[in-house]
Amino acid sequence: MTTPQQLIRPEILAMSAYHVPPASNMIKLDAMENPYPLPAALRHQLGQGLGEVAINRYPDAGYGELKRRLRDAFAIPEDAGLMLGNGSDELIQILAMGLARPGTKLMSLEPSFVMYRMIATFCQMQYVGVALNDDFTLNLNATLAAIEREQPALIFIAYPNNPTGNHFPAEQIAQIIRAAKGLVVVDEAYEAFAQDSFLPRLHEFPNLLILRTLSKVGLAGLRLGYMVGATAWINEFEKLRPPYNINVLTQYAAEMVLTHIDELHAQTRLIRDERAVLSAQLSTLPQLSQYPSDANFILVRVPDAPATHTALKVDGILVKNLHGSHSLLQNCLRLTVGTPAENRLLFDALKSALMAVDA
Ligand SMILES: *Cc1c(COP(=O)(O)O)cnc(C)c1O
Repeated sequence: MTTPQQLIRPEILAMSAYHVPPASNMIKLDAMENPYPLPAALRHQLGQGLGEVAINRYPDAGYGELKRRLRDAFAIPEDAGLMLGNGSDELIQILAMGLARPGTKLMSLEPSFVMYRMIATFCQMQYVGVALNDDFTLNLNATLAAIEREQPALIFIAYPNNPTGNHFPAEQIAQIIRAAKGLVVVDEAYEAFAQDSFLPRLHEFPNLLILRTLSKVGLAGLRLGYMVGATAWINEFEKLRPPYNINVLTQYAAEMVLTHIDELHAQTRLIRDERAVLSAQLSTLPQLSQYPSDANFILVRVPDAPATHTALKVDGILVKNLHGSHSLLQNCLRLTVGTPAENRLLFDALKSALMAVDA
């Protein structure tokens, strides 16, 4: 009898599955979700409409209507290629699948989104991480040198970056795109909170792809990501897409919400305002230091992150403990910006947890 250990590739055996902690009855500030539900009238309308969707039929695999609404809502140029994914995670995987061949390299900055490294391993690409500076700014010289040395086929830059929250100067990103002979993917998962994008500059860079997701603006449960770039590239990656990767319920719900995009814009505006309020509160805690954020979360450093993480959990608040995930993230926690009430509870719980450590 053949065992998994004999057949599964050793690098997969060595991995652990992506861990999602249980969160029932917790205030969930660990995963950059939008804390606000849709307005009641829209939810009602959605419920009615979803009941009428033909779930016995395969989806419209061209996603024509959904793509048209995405182009309208996010000002995607008509002459640019657009491809949809079951979350942007699927698109990252498709990109790696398309470019992987023996010896090809996938590069990203570190610390950044962990799926870049994991997917490189899934697809048997060689992973190259380039460390950010201690303050999480981009080390441009080291990055350009690594591009020259490693010749990566694929580079991912999260803009703004997760888990650090900052976004790198556009001119530095432009230099990286110009220096790269491979594809550069600017991952704009947090674009709504930074309000800065490379989309208007797509035509300047033939090797640039823009990756976006609806997850962080309020539709994480739908699993819908999209990728924009030159049609010559998008047409090739389309070949790797499972034919029905966006299900009919997601298509219907996304189409409806996109026609009410102002509701999502209003929510992201609230979150940006609350980010400033939370940041001001955090700055009153002498034991804590925070990093500037252009996203919907704030990275902080405390004297003992695992202890603070546990204390918050006891108080019913779930945040992300990053201690141990990268050497630059020692004693760091990532706090998703929630509703004003959630943020207040977070602040109070943090304050007492930090005082307990002091005592
Ligand atoms: C959350 C996140 C994603 C994944 O988004 P999904 O569309 O939910 O798969 C991609 N990139 C970055 C940088 C993220 O933080």
